[in-house]
Amino acid sequence: MKVFVVNCGSSSIKYQLFSMAEETVLAKGVVERVGTAEAELKHKAGQNAIRYNIDAPNHKAGIQVILETLVDPRVGVLESVDQIEGVGHRVVHGGQDATQSTRIDESILKIIENNVELAPLHNPANLEGIAATMEAMPDVPQIAVFDTAFLSTLPEHAYRYAIPEDWYENYRVRKYGFHGTSHRYVTFKAAELLGRPVEDTNLITCHLGNGCSITAVKNGRAIDHSMGMTPLAGVVMGTRSGDIDPAIPLHMINMGLEPSEVDKMLNKRSGLLGVSDDTNDMRDLLELVDQGDKKATLAIELFVYSILKYIGSYTAVLPRVDAIVLTGGIGENSLPVRERLCAGLANLGATADLDRNLAMSGGKAGPITANGSKLPVWIIPTNEELMIARDTRRLVAQG
Ligand code: ADP
Repeated sequence: MKVFVVNCGSSSIKYQLFSMAEETVLAKGVVERVGTAEAELKHKAGQNAIRYNIDAPNHKAGIQVILETLVDPRVGVLESVDQIEGVGHRVVHGGQDATQSTRIDESILKIIENNVELAPLHNPANLEGIAATMEAMPDVPQIAVFDTAFLSTLPEHAYRYAIPEDWYENYRVRKYGFHGTSHRYVTFKAAELLGRPVEDTNLITCHLGNGCSITAVKNGRAIDHSMGMTPLAGVVMGTRSGDIDPAIPLHMINMGLEPSEVDKMLNKRSGLLGVSDDTNDMRDLLELVDQGDKKATLAIELFVYSILKYIGSYTAVLPRVDAIVLTGGIGENSLPVRERLCAGLANLGATADLDRNLAMSGGKAGPITANGSKLPVWIIPTNEELMIARDTRRLVAQG
């Protein structure tokens, strides 16, 4: 079965075409700067890689170019788009209505629509992508895989905030969480690698990319999560502040800042970028640290400290922790950050193994703590697209 996975962002369309028999990627790519005159397609199929400017005034046009490219005799991998048997869409926000991946029909479109208010940048783009593939492939099943779904198992005491009930009832103010597909993928992979049934696996999964989130997993299900009603909450991130005193935005508005400016500063100018006053890229920060840069050093200290605090609090609410899982660009690649995290987790029983840390790179999965470490720390590269493709295959097969 060939499955086409689509991830529409506000100005980009990422895609992968899978052959599900061997779970291999036949082609992948991205259209960037959708809606501008500089829209560009980057496409890779085996050794063939192309990159050129395209006309993509909207997501629909972008999807059209991608489908044409997939059947292009020079760089394509299909004879016809009819070979695609299922399309899996990453959908950011399912709100309280979507608890699992589902075949898209009118009611699912309504759910995505209904949650536009909660994900104003992403859900409209997801809807555009779905409309475009539905139009291009009207007879092919379309599957929605919600980023929030894995976190829909949070108990009420974890997802509710101690605010007036009316805010929850009438304005849907509660924790939803994000990166759910990544946390779900590494949860299942970790259970497999640890040799445990997933329903008897307790983990703290840390997705550390540009956006960062941490999930407490009990018996294979999420019971708490660091992001909140929006992705701004939780640990320090590339450009987002993570948790701050909730009165700070009010203070800054009282100081004369426009609400939209506060929003921009907290989402796009804070985090590692805000503290270092230089960059949100961990590689560049580590280089600055080597040069003795104090702000970069502090930024990484805040980052690591915030992660350790979440791991500590989730250790307190889980009956047992079988492993800490690190994933995402930083988790999978940044040896110095991993080393600092392991050192900080010594109190909880992690015994760092520097050779293992060194060995666990380039997409490898495995522990970076010593054999017999009371608290094992594992690196597990995430693969959200594969998770979406697997859900799509399963739901298409179910008919
Ligand atoms: P996104 O959340 O945008 O998908 P990624 O998961 O790709 O982001 O993670 C981006 C982060 O990962 C950046 O801070 C980047 O510096 C970091 N990163 C990627 N590769 C490395 C590496 N080899 N060493 C250190 N950090 C890395």
